[in-house]
Amino acid sequence: MSDLLTQLAKAEAEAARLRREVANGPCREFGHDWQFYGGSNLGCCDDCQCGGPVYACTKCGDCDYGDNDEADELRAACLAERRP
Ligand SMILES: [Zn+2]
Ligand SMILES: [Zn+2]
Repeated sequence: MSDLLTQLAKAEAEAARLRREVANGPCREFGHDWQFYGGSNLGCCDDCQCGGPVYACTKCGDCDYGDNDEADELRAACLAERRP
């Protein structure tokens, strides 16, 4: 019984996500609406603590997990600084 409830909850969450996507236009066609979501560890090297932004889409709830141009630039800047 609880399995069925879990399945139902999952289906409802998916339906809600799709409804949001339909209401706002599919991200695949119109692009994600990325909004700042939080910070992440860039992990450019072992001994630095660089942080970068993480963005999440307000429409579909997708998250880039710090995989964005801004993070790439910060990582490149860190590496350039460390080069002798
Ligand atoms: Zn999206
Ligand atoms: Zn760094």
